[in-house]
Amino acid sequence: MNVTRKIALLLAVVFLLPALFFSGYELSSLNKDEAMIQDVYNKQLEAILFSVNQYSDDAINRWIAQVQAGVESRTDSSTLPASIAKLLELNSALTAVFVIDTLAGVPRQNVYTLDDKITRDVTALLKDTSWQDPGKIHQLMNYQRSGFQKVEALDGPSPNDEPAQWIVFIIQDAEQKPCVAGTVIQPELFIEDLIGPRLQGIARDQFVLSVIRKSTSAMVYNTVAGDTARLPAEALTKDFWLLPDYALGIRSQGPSLQDVVRDRTLTNMGLLLAVDIILILAVILVYRNIKKEVQLAQNKSDFVSNVSHEIRTPLALISMFAETLEMGRVKSEEKKQEYYGIIHKEAHRLSGIVNKILNFSQAEANKKVFHPVRLHPDTEIREILKTYDFHLANKGFTYTFTGLADLYVRADREAFIETVINLIDNAVKYSGETKRIEITCARSGSTGQIAVRDFGIGISRQDQRHVFDKFYRVSSGNLAGTRGTGLGLSLVKQLMVAQGGDITLESEPGKGSTFTLTFPLESP
Ligand code: ADP
Repeated sequence: MNVTRKIALLLAVVFLLPALFFSGYELSSLNKDEAMIQDVYNKQLEAILFSVNQYSDDAINRWIAQVQAGVESRTDSSTLPASIAKLLELNSALTAVFVIDTLAGVPRQNVYTLDDKITRDVTALLKDTSWQDPGKIHQLMNYQRSGFQKVEALDGPSPNDEPAQWIVFIIQDAEQKPCVAGTVIQPELFIEDLIGPRLQGIARDQFVLSVIRKSTSAMVYNTVAGDTARLPAEALTKDFWLLPDYALGIRSQGPSLQDVVRDRTLTNMGLLLAVDIILILAVILVYRNIKKEVQLAQNKSDFVSNVSHEIRTPLALISMFAETLEMGRVKSEEKKQEYYGIIHKEAHRLSGIVNKILNFSQAEANKKVFHPVRLHPDTEIREILKTYDFHLANKGFTYTFTGLADLYVRADREAFIETVINLIDNAVKYSGETKRIEITCARSGSTGQIAVRDFGIGISRQDQRHVFDKFYRVSSGNLAGTRGTGLGLSLVKQLMVAQGGDITLESEPGKGSTFTLTFPLESP
């Protein structure tokens, strides 16, 4: 595994894994916590609705006690007992009270109301026993025998046009025998008069309590006046024990707990996500910096070995031919001239390398002083080509130059020549079979451009991003034996930027490369 991979793995293990693990854990526990809060809250709401149900049961039990007292106080069956009369007077929701008992073996139906018509109606309705569920009444009897007072809501018919709820229970008649008794109530009046105040008392500013008629889903009572819309989905509902067609609903006032919990969960998730993203970005940044440093260190060490090699070869040649000449072994003048030529050429190459390194270190330390002048690229390039003509022809290269007579740019002359030569040198070094170079001058907007194009090995997209880095050399695909320092293009880039220009590259592996120098334009 290479160094950068190891670093990436280390960063991931040390920073990312714990953070992501923690985030995952937090998210899952967030949901759990919220489910628990919701559960506890729902239980509290259920308890409140339970207390409402119990309250209405208590109310009906108080009524039963009064009916029982009335039955016990009866002297004859036709008169309305005082306690039942009071009950009817005080509760407008109570339409009728009836008692079915047996006196001297004769079953009787006593109906007590405040209205004769209703008395007649209820008496008639009682005769029709089809709605009376004998099974349920039998069960009530059993409960009574075991000492429990239970009530049963039966779907009886309505004595007037109002909806009616028949509530049947067992009391003791004058002979202390169990008998069936019941009340006919108007459920919505019952809710309004008896349960409403209780609901208001519970609701205060905290809750909204409602009663819904199940058969029509209509809201028949609500603690918030005027709010008769349907019950919101988040409300908790429970059956109304006493009134089977009705249900009790409760929800918190203002934003519901679900909303609060959802908001909190979303905020927490958002924050966690943001922290994770920042962390991932930070790790990527650190990784990229480290990778760069590692690459630089690698390039530097390659540079040292490249330069040593570059210097050693001409030095070896120089010392070999100088020694041969010194020993006087070379007799022919022709050979001598050839050896001098080689020594001169190698010394020139050596000084070229040393100059490049010096120039680079100067530019790197920002010590290079520029003298920008109005420059005529056409002339300068022709000069360079004149000097290079022999060298290029010698290497088997042909070249074309397309100048622009009225193009003037602002540049430091020495730096200009150095950059162009560097590009021509590279074109020579990295051309394969097609030994052709095209140099073009052009104007584009407020810049003057010099392009050096070759038809050589080209540079992959991946390497294009690095060729201007110091010490960088493309490791694969280089022509065999092509040596270099990896400083040339980095130096060119530094020189160009320092002069207010730039260098760009277009290249395709196998097809060649075009390096374009951009200089600030000067008026012709
Ligand atoms: P070097 O001394 O290695 O030539 P440079 O900085 O001049 O250093 O170039 C960096 C690398 O860019 C080279 O090693 C080479 O791989 C690649 N390169 C530069 N010019 C060309 C070109 N004209 N064609 C193909 N590859 C090139």
